[in-house]
Amino acid sequence: MKIYAIETGNFKLDGGAMFGVVPKTIWQKTNPADANNLIEMSMRCMLIEDGDRLILIDTGLGAKQSDKFFGYYYLFGDFSLELSLRKHGFHKDDITDVFLTHLHFDHCGGAIEYNASKTILQPVFKNAKFWSNENHWEWATAPNAREKASFLKENIQPIQQSGQLNFINENYKNQIGFDVLFMDGHTEKQMLPKITYQGKTIVFMADLLPTIGHIPLPYVMGYDTRPLLTIKEKEDFLNLAADNNYYLFLEHDAQHELCTVKHTEKGVRLKETHKFLDIFN
Ligand SMILES: [Zn+2]
Repeated sequence: MKIYAIETGNFKLDGGAMFGVVPKTIWQKTNPADANNLIEMSMRCMLIEDGDRLILIDTGLGAKQSDKFFGYYYLFGDFSLELSLRKHGFHKDDITDVFLTHLHFDHCGGAIEYNASKTILQPVFKNAKFWSNENHWEWATAPNAREKASFLKENIQPIQQSGQLNFINENYKNQIGFDVLFMDGHTEKQMLPKITYQGKTIVFMADLLPTIGHIPLPYVMGYDTRPLLTIKEKEDFLNLAADNNYYLFLEHDAQHELCTVKHTEKGVRLKETHKFLDIFN
C-alpha cells in the first residue's frame, strides 16, 4: 500500500464561524484572520494505492461553480486535484474508488464537472465507485435549513444519476479495505477513514478536527449541527489518539498536514506537527 497527500486547493472561511463560541482574541493565535476576518483553509485529500485499487478520499470543492460562488471562498494557491494526481503519476481515470467523508461541497464538489458542451453534470472519475452511507445520503438529499448551503444538489444528484453510487454497509472493511469511524456531531454519519500504514495509524480527520486550532474541546465549528455531540466525539477520539499515538491527517489545516496529540493536565493537546513525507515515505 502507498498513501499520498493530495492538495486540491486552498480557500478561506469566516474565522468566527470556524470557531463557534470561542472569541477571536483566542482563536486568532492559532488561525490568524485577514482584514475580512477570514482564515486560511486547505482541502487536502488522500490517495491510497492498494493493489489494483486507487482510492481517493474526498475531492475538494472542484472547478464547476460560478464566479459568484467562488467569490465567497477566496481560493488561493496553485494546487488542483488534477495537478496533484499528475505529480504522483496518476490520472483521474485511474481512480477506482472515491470515498466521501460527507457531502458538504468542500469535500465532494471536485467529484463532479460539466461535460465539454457545459450542458450536463457528470462524475470527474468515470471509472470509480463512489462511497457514501445510506443515513448520510438521506440526510444530505433532504437537507435541514442550516446545512442547505453546504449540500448542493449539483454535487449530489449527478453521483446518483451516474449509477456509480455505493453505500458502505457493516462489511465496509471488505468493501473499501480500511476501518471507518462514524461521527454524528458535525453532520449525520460523517465517516473518518482509519488506516494502518507503515506500522502507524493514520486517521483522516475531515471535519471532526479541521485544524490544530480545534484540539481543545469547546473549539467546535459554528457549522456543526450537534456541537455538544462533537465535543463528546472529539474527547473520546483525542484520548484514543493520545493513548495510541495516532497520526491525524488534517484536511483543512493550511499549514499542517499531520499532527499528533498528548495528554496534559488541561486535557489532550497538540504534541507535534509533521509534514506527511517526513513521517511516511
Ligand atoms: Zn463539513
